Amino acid sequence: MTASYESAHEAPHFINRAGWLRAAVLGANDGIVSVASLIVGVAAADPSPAAVLIAGTAGLAAGAMSMAAGEYVSVSSQADVERADIARESHALRTMPEEEERELASIFEGRGLSPATAALVARELTEKDALTAHVREELGLSEVHAANPLQAALASGLTFSVAAALPLLAALLAPEGQIIPVVVAATLLCLAALGALGAQAGGAPKGRATLRVLFWGVMAMAITAGVGHFFGVSV
Ligand SMILES: [Zn+2]
Repeated sequence: MTASYESAHEAPHFINRAGWLRAAVLGANDGIVSVASLIVGVAAADPSPAAVLIAGTAGLAAGAMSMAAGEYVSVSSQADVERADIARESHALRTMPEEEERELASIFEGRGLSPATAALVARELTEKDALTAHVREELGLSEVHAANPLQAALASGLTFSVAAALPLLAALLAPEGQIIPVVVAATLLCLAALGALGAQAGGAPKGRATLRVLFWGVMAMAITAGVGHFFGVSV
């Protein structure tokens, strides 16, 4: 049960977007950087469009699946831990309710309430819904942050696929022999847009977010191009 309240300020909070936004930005960033780097690396070794497009398409499919699977598995293990903790809390509330109420009061005392006020708040919250109060105040879990494996897997798998298609499209449309400069330029543009979009969706400053994704994107492409070039020369 999410408690509704009257907000004191105009600007809304975005924290409830943090879960899927993190998965989406991670998926998109990974999609652009890993497939663009793969394309640049392969093109540095063998610039034939066929080799580049096969590598790019394989990279997109493999990346999207591993991203979605990775998110599903990691968020599921987080959900497992949360569920186990909530079950432990529920058991404690059944077997030692007084100690649990005193514990809740001590949490509020730790946050600055007087012992009398803390005891009163703990009493009222316990009467209303003891488990929800302990899950929120003691475990720090709320519905806003509840782990949702399927949502995270879909968010990152889909955004990975859509984002990875951008450098692939750039490679497809690039004039013969121009795959690397065209893909690098298109990728930097996409990364800048992703940084700004992610910051916008999260209500965060755009400048730093954009520079961050650009820096790591450039690093990834430069290193992969170097590796591809090395193998292209030595093979
Ligand atoms: Zn407790």
